[in-house]
Amino acid sequence: MHKIKVEDREFEIFLENETINKRIRLLGIQINVDYEQKCPLFIGVLNGSFLFMADLIKEIDVPCEVAFMRVASYEGTSSSGKVKELIGLPDDIEGRDIIIVEDIVDTGLTLTHILKTIKEKNPSSIKVSSLLLKPAALKYEIEELEYIGFEIPNEFVVGYGLDYNGLGRNLTDIYRATES
Ligand code: 5GP
Repeated sequence: MHKIKVEDREFEIFLENETINKRIRLLGIQINVDYEQKCPLFIGVLNGSFLFMADLIKEIDVPCEVAFMRVASYEGTSSSGKVKELIGLPDDIEGRDIIIVEDIVDTGLTLTHILKTIKEKNPSSIKVSSLLLKPAALKYEIEELEYIGFEIPNEFVVGYGLDYNGLGRNLTDIYRATES
């Protein structure tokens, strides 16, 4: 089994780049069909989504636009109750078909907040594409979750944009933390 170390933690191979890319090709086909005659605005949630966005967008052949935003959490409160602020959200959302691009949905708290804020700006439609989803961790019902790459167990993963303490985003494959 192919194992690596990121900082102090050991990880084992979970999804190889070829597997990820094959899945992204299928997501692209699905989006091309669903958005025929439309011009979706893809909004990536930084930092984790940058590689997924880059590969996904290469599969899109309808006219489209790409933007990125980030979510900042205010310090000083308990993690689940943190106030989140959206930074860099494009201001031309009204009347647009929005596709939010996420690296991973865990509890769904971040995404729920993003969706609420974007909906207030009156988009024509809004859907979410997340490379990874941990169904067992999900605490919020998110009906906009339409284009999922992989449903994974409730384990910590790193690579392909996802970090561990800021490291590991450059790994081309996705790894999961080993049991130690
Ligand atoms: P949620 O708000 O859905 O609980 O958390 C979403 C965020 O938590 C993701 O955007 C990501 O930054 C982080 N996260 C959740 N699970 C993982 C994981 O397994 N690996 C990494 N690297 N980040 C994760």
